[in-house]
Amino acid sequence: MLIKEYISRENKSQMITTLLKHYKVGNVRVKLKSMKNHAHYNVDTGTLELSTRYDKIKSSQIKEFLITILHEINHAMDAKTFGWKKFKDMYEYEMNLQITNGKDEYIDNKFEIQAEEFGQKMWKYWKSKFKKQNLI
Ligand SMILES: [Zn+2]
Repeated sequence: MLIKEYISRENKSQMITTLLKHYKVGNVRVKLKSMKNHAHYNVDTGTLELSTRYDKIKSSQIKEFLITILHEINHAMDAKTFGWKKFKDMYEYEMNLQITNGKDEYIDNKFEIQAEEFGQKMWKYWKSKFKKQNLI
């Protein structure tokens, strides 16, 4: 099998579209933004921000890319379940709770832990699926 050095912009957006549809968050508000991370779910605005910095991504970045996208999609799933404004309140409450307990507002945040576990659990499944579809 041919090993691609780069994943094209088209294939990258096709993977994102597939993931958003699969997890039923296809109608989440999306904003394109130049930023270091591949994606970021903005809890304050209920918006999924996608990076425009990487026009195409290196194949060696696929793990990081998939984990990040899946992590942020998990936040979007919660926002859909609770409504994004309610989720914003819940997220802020959780941050304050961790600070009150002398813990870290992100590292010990249950929503962050859950989203990271989701990304870590699912990325390999999607990697092999996208490989079969010749997207990566
Ligand atoms: Zn997160």
